[in-house]
Amino acid sequence: MDEWLRRSTAARPINETYPHVQEVNLRLHFHDEGPVAPPDSEKELKKSPDQKAVFFEKCRMRECVGGGHDLDEVVGEMIRARAPSREGVSRCQGWEDQDRVGKHRCLDELRYSIEIDYRDG
Ligand SMILES: [Zn+2]
Repeated sequence: MDEWLRRSTAARPINETYPHVQEVNLRLHFHDEGPVAPPDSEKELKKSPDQKAVFFEKCRMRECVGGGHDLDEVVGEMIRARAPSREGVSRCQGWEDQDRVGKHRCLDELRYSIEIDYRDG
């Protein structure tokens, strides 16, 4: 089972894990400098409280082994601090392809911008 599937199966809905969260908005911008990198791409995700609290984005590189972008911790930290927004960069720690496992990391770059709305009180 892949990491994304494992996590979404295990996760609880947002309103159980984080009852005071109204909505989570993620803007994801994928970027890579490498010679074989696909063009930049963007993705927007809006999570409502009934959706599962999984903030793990699969790596967009097809050959990547064991990679992905884990934003669970960032989102969790934001919620504990009641932070309304945060921007940052995540680099994929998977391996570039099957032949480069243990040698060359994927490092595909994800620039994220996260906004969270909280319920009052
Ligand atoms: Zn990757």
